[in-house]
Amino acid sequence: MAGSDELKRRLDQVRTRMAQAALRAGRDPAAVTLVAVSKTHPPETLEAAYALGLRDFGENRSAELAAKAPALAHLPDLRWHFVGALQTRQSLPVAQQAHTFHAVDRLKIAERLSRQVVAIGRNLPIFLEVNLSGEASKTGFDCTRWEEDGAQRAALLQAAVAIAALPGLHIRGLMTMAPWEVEEAIIRVVFARTRRLAEWLAGAAPQADWSALSMGMTDDFDIAIEEGATHIRVGRALFGPRLV
Ligand SMILES: *Cc1c(COP(=O)(O)O)cnc(C)c1O
Repeated sequence: MAGSDELKRRLDQVRTRMAQAALRAGRDPAAVTLVAVSKTHPPETLEAAYALGLRDFGENRSAELAAKAPALAHLPDLRWHFVGALQTRQSLPVAQQAHTFHAVDRLKIAERLSRQVVAIGRNLPIFLEVNLSGEASKTGFDCTRWEEDGAQRAALLQAAVAIAALPGLHIRGLMTMAPWEVEEAIIRVVFARTRRLAEWLAGAAPQADWSALSMGMTDDFDIAIEEGATHIRVGRALFGPRLV
């Protein structure tokens, strides 16, 4: 990562893209949280980003979060977002440090995090990750055919109801990843279908909050904002290529 001037230039570009997308959709740009995905980048880079006003940082490896959080503990209003799939046995740093976990993809990981946050007296907002693209590389609850497949809807609803009842966790909404390297129209449909799935859940499981949508990365966050994203997870557009 180049110096702080370069980071400022990139942040300005991202904020401009966010504002333009919000304008096109008639949305308030302030309703979209920019999560700066800082994985692979050293704590000094995050400090520079913090100095530019960023507060929400995303990591996807538990060990990296466990190492970085103490290094940046002097920035008390910094919020850690854990955005990647989480192995059950690596959940403790997320339970201890994360402000929000974006990738609950099975009941078991939610149960474990619930036990861990309750034990230390924390609360953890969560997103349920859904896979609408069908790509095998994507984690998340299988929702590839949710509109026509009642069994798929039932399985998601059953998990959602169980997770909503767990102490210490608070569902905020759904998270999804667009398919790689496909045309814009296909990405847009995945985001729009995710929004409609959240609307369906709001009716089917009203005991939980389904109002937030975590979707959109460097290459597609404009489309995601147009389709209703409340949280975008942006790495390369801010920090440049990943370091490892
Ligand atoms: C790395 C990562 C991102 C950021 O990706 P960029 O393409 O660098 O913006 C977003 N979400 C998840 C889950 C990631 O792992």
